[in-house]
Amino acid sequence: MAFKNVIGHAKPIALMQRAIKNGKVAQSYLFLGNEGIGKKYAALQFAKALNCLGAEAEEGDACDHCTSCKKIDHGLHPDVLVIEPEGQNIKVEQIRQLQRELAYRPYEGKYRVCIVTAADRMAPHIPNTLLKTLEEPPLHTVIVLLANNSRFILPTILSRCQPIRFNPLPIPLVSKWLVEGNGFDEAEAHLLASLSEGSPGKALEIQEEILQIPRKELLKDWVGLKSLSFERIGSWVGYLPSQRENLLLILEVAKTLLRDLVMVKALNQGPKLIHSDLLREIESTAANWSLSSLLRRMERLHQTIVEIKANANTSLALEAMMLSWAER
Ligand SMILES: [Zn+2]
Repeated sequence: MAFKNVIGHAKPIALMQRAIKNGKVAQSYLFLGNEGIGKKYAALQFAKALNCLGAEAEEGDACDHCTSCKKIDHGLHPDVLVIEPEGQNIKVEQIRQLQRELAYRPYEGKYRVCIVTAADRMAPHIPNTLLKTLEEPPLHTVIVLLANNSRFILPTILSRCQPIRFNPLPIPLVSKWLVEGNGFDEAEAHLLASLSEGSPGKALEIQEEILQIPRKELLKDWVGLKSLSFERIGSWVGYLPSQRENLLLILEVAKTLLRDLVMVKALNQGPKLIHSDLLREIESTAANWSLSSLLRRMERLHQTIVEIKANANTSLALEAMMLSWAER
């Protein structure tokens, strides 16, 4: 799997390939982008391209077949180091160990590549330890820091790295990857991609939970039901998970159901639905609604998601939302 096999991210890849071809590889990079978006995968392809022994290396890519590429793919290359958080964050001892390794020249590769994942989650004091390495990087060493958010990285570190931004991937691209590379059916893939925020890793992470959600019931007995009785509100509050993360996933799914109802109501020609497998149910539900009422319900749901993300009491927020839904 060389650069040519990375999905999306054309700009960051072009930047890395240009650097390799022009012999202008920086000593420290900071890859920035959402969790699961493909930063680590791209960093590994970069390590392969830097060390590849095949003809592709001249084009700034990896061949996937030489011993160097194979070793990196299997995590066995002595010059490619990946530092992952131990527990919550990266520990000072991990960085010290890295520094000891960096004191030597690469064992067999052209470059020693050190990938530090979750660079925005380091235990205190680490940034200063790491800074010394970034200030005086050993020869033939490329350090790649990966982070979701640059807000948690010290300016002194930021200023020493070349930043490369990884943007969310387009939904159709994530969807295609889920179908072709991971065997999901079209409807599942489209749903997961729509909820993934453009991150293939997140799509896979949430799949189990999302695919278990009884979407038809949510549509017919909850988000699409016009007259929500007090009794039914009570039973939904009892049924929905109180754990924030799980609840938020369900609310996001509910939002996409309302979004589909709006699409069917507002556009007459077969719009591209997220829940295309529920087209018939969505059409018959939408027939009971006016567009403005659907939009109001969706707006209220969105507001509730924001409140719950900001730590509101989940049951109270849900109850208040459904009472306002029932008012109409
Ligand atoms: Zn190779």
